Amino acid sequence: LAAIKVPRYVAGHDLSVTASLGISIFPGDGEDAVTLIKKAETAMRNIKDSGPDNFCFFSNTMNQRAREQHSIESGIRLALERNEFVLHYQPKLNLKTGKVVGAEALIRWLKPGQGWLFPSEFIPVAEDSGLIVPLSKWVLREACRQTCAWQAAGLPPIRMSVNISATEFRQRGFLEGIRTVLEETGMNPELLELEITESVLMQNAESTIQILQAIKHMGIRLAIDDFGTGYSSLSYLRRFPIDVLKIDQSFVRDLSTDSNDAALVSAIISLGRSLKLNIIAEGIETQDQLDFLKTNHCEEGQGYFFSRAVEP
Ligand code: C2E
Ligand code: CA
Ligand code: CA
Repeated sequence: LAAIKVPRYVAGHDLSVTASLGISIFPGDGEDAVTLIKKAETAMRNIKDSGPDNFCFFSNTMNQRAREQHSIESGIRLALERNEFVLHYQPKLNLKTGKVVGAEALIRWLKPGQGWLFPSEFIPVAEDSGLIVPLSKWVLREACRQTCAWQAAGLPPIRMSVNISATEFRQRGFLEGIRTVLEETGMNPELLELEITESVLMQNAESTIQILQAIKHMGIRLAIDDFGTGYSSLSYLRRFPIDVLKIDQSFVRDLSTDSNDAALVSAIISLGRSLKLNIIAEGIETQDQLDFLKTNHCEEGQGYFFSRAVEP
């Protein structure tokens, strides 16, 4: 690792490279090259999460994890064919009027023999394997279809929010995919809102701006999800065409007991208001939290206090 890390002078630039090193040991981990390399690779994948410039020895629990991932992966493929995914919808309310103004689509997997699986149990695997792309396409289409179905049934129009993961955002064909879904479902783009986390916005800022502007051009709204947890630089709020700040639930949770969180939440609300952004607080569970948010002029809210994510 140290040898690789030494900067090299190439064409007028100092270039430095870091490595991730997976290690397996003969004969304990395997007696032939193929097995040893495979296990070294498994060990290497394990460190990628903790950042580059690191090493890791293979252990058997990793193999088990890899097998579990593989089984979830093939499960997701089958589930897409068999229509085992469903969307539940959590209402978003205007805190002043108490009216439902929107809904967030949250994916669930009704797996035969296992019952309901929540996103944390399969979204990370879907992201690692690239299956997030077909999965998200399905989510977007289904959320738009449902919004149109509600309107066709004579309900007042509401905004529909869909979560967009990092891999999806960076995917070639992401924008075309959205365009196609809008056309095919007849969804009014002004009713569609995409929720993106701060970390997605911070990677590779130049291409990010272009993608965001193209989304805005289509008439779609953009929300920053989990606001306050991702990044310390606030300058991007000026640069990016954002409509909504969604205050992360971790700040809302301790509102009534932690004065730091209360200070942060009211600061985020003022910041958002002066930048003319829409502010929504998520994870509202109690009357106290709601009271605080109302007093501090937070416009919208979402949380178990009003409703969990429910069937259409
Ligand atoms: P998120 O976007 O931050 O979604 C909010 C999560 O908080 C949801 O969990 C929701 O059920 C939960 N929640 C809502 N109100 C409350 C509350 O008052 N108290 C508490 N304790 N929790 C509350 P869920 O549905 O398990 O989703 C978890 C995460 O999975 C989401 O976080 C989102 O990042 C991801 N996710 C969900 N659906 C999709 C999807 O269709 N596509 C992608 N890419 N990601 C998704
Ligand atoms: Ca969200
Ligand atoms: Ca969130």
